Amino acid sequence: MRYDVIVVGAGFAGSVVAERLSARNKKVLILENRNHVGGNAYDYEQDGILIHKYGPHIFHTNSDKVFEYLSQFTEWYDYRHCVLGHIQNKTVPIPFNFASIDDCFHADQAERLKTALIKEYGRNARVPIMELRKSRNPDVNALADFVFENVFKYYTMKQWGLTAEEIDSGVTARVPVRLSYKDGYFDDKYQVMPKRGYTALFKKMLQSNNIEIRFGVNAKELISLDAEGIKFNGEPFKGSLVYTGALDELFDYYLGELPYRSLDLVLEKNNGTFQKAATENYPGKESQYPFTRITEYKHFMENEPADITYIHTEYPLPYNKDAEKGNIPYYPVFTDDNQKMYKDYVEMAKSYPNLILLGRLAEYKYYNMDSIVERALLKASNM
Ligand code: FAD
Ligand code: UDP
Repeated sequence: MRYDVIVVGAGFAGSVVAERLSARNKKVLILENRNHVGGNAYDYEQDGILIHKYGPHIFHTNSDKVFEYLSQFTEWYDYRHCVLGHIQNKTVPIPFNFASIDDCFHADQAERLKTALIKEYGRNARVPIMELRKSRNPDVNALADFVFENVFKYYTMKQWGLTAEEIDSGVTARVPVRLSYKDGYFDDKYQVMPKRGYTALFKKMLQSNNIEIRFGVNAKELISLDAEGIKFNGEPFKGSLVYTGALDELFDYYLGELPYRSLDLVLEKNNGTFQKAATENYPGKESQYPFTRITEYKHFMENEPADITYIHTEYPLPYNKDAEKGNIPYYPVFTDDNQKMYKDYVEMAKSYPNLILLGRLAEYKYYNMDSIVERALLKASNM
């Protein structure tokens, strides 16, 4: 088959582009390193429980377009994700909210703190911790110190290997402090999970005869970029190459290695039920808790089995492509220096007009699934 488009990676970025172009009768070849579709959203069933192999993936979006597009490939069920944090021998709601304040402070002090917060930011506001820390009101400042110390400081150091001051402020702003009793991890219009899981969604998305997928293939084995342009199997390739892998890898680390954080995800099977919430965070010091959070998958399900459970514990570590643990580049590390190196790679990529960079790795950005789908729809419509 002659291919109009080669897509590297069968995660959300690559699969959405492949689906959209195949619907316009383009012949698409997908090269996927792993032996399955879905990228990091891949899930599989074990003992009746759907396990997310690469860590917990909860779907949430405000985009009607993204929700309607994906609804062609799956039915959904409503799922509101709630997270608890283990703080000073208590379990309190995360994002930290008024209920968390009530749990952590005496009643009169809690009232004073809530009043001061509302006066400064307004009722129901969502305030990033780094904003809260700038307050000059002594009550707000005391609370900010408490929340920073007990929720953000050590979790962020464990997760990123950097302090909250060193990493881009947008990272901690993903989990704001809530000036209300509202719980739930997300505020989006749609908070749903695919009825038969993500892998089933992907399989349906990719079932066109115009799409060929080769599994267990690193694109670097078949694709090369040189002064003459893009080559596939040693021959010039004039179609579009949609690349969703890591950009430093594509250019053989010519400008150096882009830093990523990885995870050692430890899966355990237990009897009964392990914890109350689907995810429980452990924001304490690494010496006390060397992991960040534990997710119990059966709490994601519409009908939870009672007798058995699977939990994932997340131990963050630096990405190292050659190591036994930590060899998956999960999170781009958002700092000014890293952005600069990334932009230099993008300059190199501009020599190849038919190379399209898309996705969390290729764009070196901390995107959620819905943002990737939105970007992929846009890219495909312009191809
Ligand atoms: P990926 O899913 O990483 O897919 C890239 C694919 O490309 C992979 O399958 C990889 O094997 C393949 N590939 C890479 N290089 C090559 C190569 N050289 N040759 C061949 N194949 C290659 N988002 C949410 O919205 N909600 C969540 O709850 C959520 N939880 C997350 C939890 C964790 C632990 C992580 C790491 C991410 C989470 N995300 C979540 C983000 C979500 O995983 C990403 O937004 C999404 O997976 C990005 O899709 P992608 O296609 O860009 O990348
Ligand atoms: N965070 C934290 N403590 C928490 C939860 C989050 O410090 O209890 C910070 C941490 O820096 C984390 C970021 O907020 O990396 C974003 O959290 P989120 O839960 O969105 O991370 P993800 O699910 O993407 O790993």
